[in-house]
Amino acid sequence: MKKTVSILGSTGSIGTQSLEVCEKHGLGVTALAAHSSADMLEQQTRKFKPEYVCIYNEEKYADLKSRLADMNVKVLSGMEGLCEIAALPQTDIVLNSVVGMVGLLPTLTAIKAGKDLALANKETLVAGGELVMKSAAEKGIKIYPVDSEHSAIFQCMQGNKREQVSRVIITASGGPFFGKSYDELRSVTKAQALHHPNWSMGNKITIDSATLMNKGLEFIEAKWLFDLTPDMIDIVVHRQSVVHSAVEYNDYSVIAQLGVPDMKIPIQYALLYPDRLECPTKRLSLTDYGTLTFEKPDYETFKCLSAAIEAIKRGGAYPCLVNSANEEAVRAFLADEIPFIQIGEIVSSVLEKFPQTEISSYEDVMRADTAARSYVREIISA
Ligand code: MG
Repeated sequence: MKKTVSILGSTGSIGTQSLEVCEKHGLGVTALAAHSSADMLEQQTRKFKPEYVCIYNEEKYADLKSRLADMNVKVLSGMEGLCEIAALPQTDIVLNSVVGMVGLLPTLTAIKAGKDLALANKETLVAGGELVMKSAAEKGIKIYPVDSEHSAIFQCMQGNKREQVSRVIITASGGPFFGKSYDELRSVTKAQALHHPNWSMGNKITIDSATLMNKGLEFIEAKWLFDLTPDMIDIVVHRQSVVHSAVEYNDYSVIAQLGVPDMKIPIQYALLYPDRLECPTKRLSLTDYGTLTFEKPDYETFKCLSAAIEAIKRGGAYPCLVNSANEEAVRAFLADEIPFIQIGEIVSSVLEKFPQTEISSYEDVMRADTAARSYVREIISA
């Protein structure tokens, strides 16, 4: 039996590549949800014929509904619609590639409904890691990582004993500004920040790659997904993005996963696990690369990275606070309200500004989220 998939965030970069994988392997598409691209969602609906579609932006609901009037599909909207789609009984696996904190509630809803998850929404684990992993364990559902680094770690753990892992090595491309000094970062432009050397991704994650916040978020994500302590996680800058991450075992054998930098490989592994079938991408030619390089990250210059690591070491609400502050700061940078360098300043200031608080419910996460966002808005408007 072919699996059936519901995709949250279907018009984004991960979403469209996931649909390519579904098409290639004939997976059933039960539901599609998008933020606000009614036009693209309509095209996807005509092609993949899901039973349900959802548009998060309620203002676009009427438009989508009339576009799809001739189709036999249930049209939903808002967070309620996202959560309904996340819990459909006829879906085998929910792929969550929503951008940002918005993805947390649908993730929790899918888990509660007993759905396996292909998780590309890293903020889910960063802000709500403890809640998510606890409820996933209670429900006995599986979380398949879609992030390339975490997929690599997951792949390197197959066939080995988890308790014999001594360390994981997360690789980082370094982004467009690797090697620049703090002073040089003062003058970088939005166009430069949006130009990633290896990966083609959405705007939020591309900026996070330029600040290295993305690697900080992935550090936190790895901690939760693989039940690691922060001292078991190393970050290594690897400019070519060919080695997607590695796992070291007690015998100091290190197993790495390699491939061309194309998200379709980790997406497909998450959707078809444990099968490995032909992927719609290129094969890796190591001799075309010739040289692979590995360097230390610059924690002083890229303040977001050190702030995220410090946040998960402290625990409690700090990972959520730095994440929400970052989301707000990136939004402001993309709206030309703050310079690039201020993103790191804002994110690290959260560690001084907020006292330690615990997270034991979804409401706690949302309270921390609101507090961090209004703190950032105050700084920006001052
Ligand atoms: Mg990644």
